[in-house]
This record gives sequence, structure tokens and C-alpha cells, in this order.
Amino acid sequence: MPLYTADALVLRTYKLGEADRIVVFLTSDRGKKRGVAKSARRPRSRFVGALEPLTHVRVAYFEKETRELVGLNYAEPVRSPLSGPGESVSHASYFAELLDEWAQADDPNETLFRLGASVLDALAEGVDIEGLARYFEYWLLRLQGVYPPHLVCHRCGQRFTGVPEAGAWLSPLDGVLTCATCADGLAGHRMGTPLSPGALAFLAHARARGPLELGDLSRSSGVLAELETLHRALMVRHLERELRSTRVLQAIKRGH
Ligand SMILES: [Zn+2]
Repeated sequence: MPLYTADALVLRTYKLGEADRIVVFLTSDRGKKRGVAKSARRPRSRFVGALEPLTHVRVAYFEKETRELVGLNYAEPVRSPLSGPGESVSHASYFAELLDEWAQADDPNETLFRLGASVLDALAEGVDIEGLARYFEYWLLRLQGVYPPHLVCHRCGQRFTGVPEAGAWLSPLDGVLTCATCADGLAGHRMGTPLSPGALAFLAHARARGPLELGDLSRSSGVLAELETLHRALMVRHLERELRSTRVLQAIKRGH
């Protein structure tokens, strides 16, 4: 039975039998795994403090060829969302839930792992949570091609990093951005969702920097509300198409 050690993020857990837990975790190198933490629900378990959603852990696990579940030898917390401000716990759960929906079993995705770990670091540093949530959603959507990789008009090539005053239009059907001038030229074709100059500035910033560097941009409540509505719509659409998930969709629709 091969034994693996890795950095991982805990995504969720559920009860198994009398005293065990099943732990779903995203490894840095071998994708999402599902494993058994023996006796994790006992008071003196070696897993105490390591299994909150989004906890960054150092894990050792072994795989059996015939089983879908791996066995967890240990999970040592490296960084916990519990060390951040009080409200960070519910957001940590939200981030972990989205990572769980996006990550594929056994499919290595180091980028997704690093995104989750960087957001956890920012939570622990007390970065403004609403800005951080929009940052995280932007990157998840971008990694899936829901957001275009470049912030330019797909018709005329105008760059949005200089933030045109007129804003732009995002088509959620094909994930393209159109500047307002080009959109005006397409008679009756202002399709999709308008993005304000402030929202474009936030996206340009999020695209180029880490979550610890959001600064003042994360304090504009109008922009954050605009992006929250947009991201919810994009995630619902994406998840319905790709994953037919219900759990996170319901959480999003409830207004998580
Ligand atoms: Zn254009």
C-alpha cells in the first residue's frame, strides 16, 4: 500500500460509523481525495483541530487499489481558519464548499490548491471578507473559462485595465467582454451583463495581484454588491451546466 504525504486543504467531513469521519480533502499534487479518519470523533483523537473546512493540513494517507476511500494516517494543521476573525469561519466553509464542487477527484490541480491556500492566508490576516469572497469567485470562474482570460474587448481589442469610463458588457453565454462602444455598434445587441468601471478595476486588480493586496478596492460596497450578483448568476449557470450540483447552488441561491 503506497503511502503519500502532501499539503492539503480540508473541504468537508461527514460521520462514518460510531467514531470515524470521512474527510474530503484537496491535495496540492494529486487532486481531491476522500479518506477515512479513524476515531476522529473521539475526544482525544489525533485529528482534533485539523478537520474544520479549509484548514491547511499536512497529511499522510495510503491508498488501497480496490478501494475508493484512502486511509488517513494523520492530518496536522498548518493553518486554520479558526485563527482568523469570528466571521471568517462561515466564509471558510463557503470557500471550501465551492472548492469541493470545482475540484475533480484524483485530478491534480495545483492552481486550485494554491488559490484556496492563499485565500486562507488572507482570511487569517484579517483581509476584508467581502472583497476576498469576490476575489475568490473571480478566480474560480476564470480558471473555468467563465470569465475571459484577458480583460480586453473581444471585438476591437481595447484593454480594460486602463478602465474605460463607460464600462463593458460580459456575455455569460460565451464568456466574452465587449466594450460599450462596440456594444453600441451592435444595434440591439447589448447582450449580457453590464460591468461598471469600478467592477472592471476590481477585476483588473484581482487578476494581477494576490488576495493580501486588495487594499482600498475591497472597500467599495457598490462594486462588491455588483460583483456578488454577477458571480452568483455565473456560478449558478456554470454549475448547472458542468456539474448539475445542487448543494452549492442552493447555498448560493439562499444568499450564503
Ligand atoms: Zn470594443
